[in-house]
Amino acid sequence: MSDLKQQFRDWHTYVLRLQELFDALDSGSQKERRAQGKVNAAKKQLQQMQDVLKALKVAIHEKEVSLKANLAQIDKYFKQRNIAKEKKEFDALTHEMEDLKQINNVLEEEILSMMGDLEEKQAQVPPLEEAVKQAETALAQVAPEWQIESQQLEARLAETREAIARLVSQLPAEAKKHYDRMFPNLGSGVLAPINRRSCTGCYTEVTGQQYNEIVMGKLVICKSCNRILYDPEG
Ligand SMILES: [Zn+2]
Repeated sequence: MSDLKQQFRDWHTYVLRLQELFDALDSGSQKERRAQGKVNAAKKQLQQMQDVLKALKVAIHEKEVSLKANLAQIDKYFKQRNIAKEKKEFDALTHEMEDLKQINNVLEEEILSMMGDLEEKQAQVPPLEEAVKQAETALAQVAPEWQIESQQLEARLAETREAIARLVSQLPAEAKKHYDRMFPNLGSGVLAPINRRSCTGCYTEVTGQQYNEIVMGKLVICKSCNRILYDPEG
């Protein structure tokens, strides 16, 4: 009789261990995911900054090209003006040259401002690169440690599952069925010891008949919370 009761206690011990192992695996993989997430975020920030720098350099280059083309055009107008025969033509060329000089003044200002911006942003690259390096270092520490730890946890998980399967195979088939159905919802709470004739899962008092069956080591399921009840003493 006490042997049967002991089976339920052992069962709960294993199930509690199983739950602990699941929790450890979960928090460990979360730790690794978080470390990987930090690497990804740092890389993304760096990439975004590099994209901004690239776009800025392209824009500066385009403005420099326009500036040079305008200077060449001014030079061309200047030579044409030197050989102009009419005042009207001379004035028109002067006017064109003035316009281009105005445009170039604006371009120069824009280039200068963008170069300042570029310099400022380039200074932000090393800290971003450093952040990537640090995140990668952290991941490199977490990943191998976690690989070993998770293998150990998986091995213990397999052992515990086997122990549960062995134990449950000695119980009525209904016990396994109920356990398989309720473990996903209740976790280690799938079994609950009674305390002074009450289910410790939901504090509902068991009936006299249920109590007798629990004491005999039979399968009794709490009618209100669906936990498998057992006697922790005797
Ligand atoms: Zn209950």
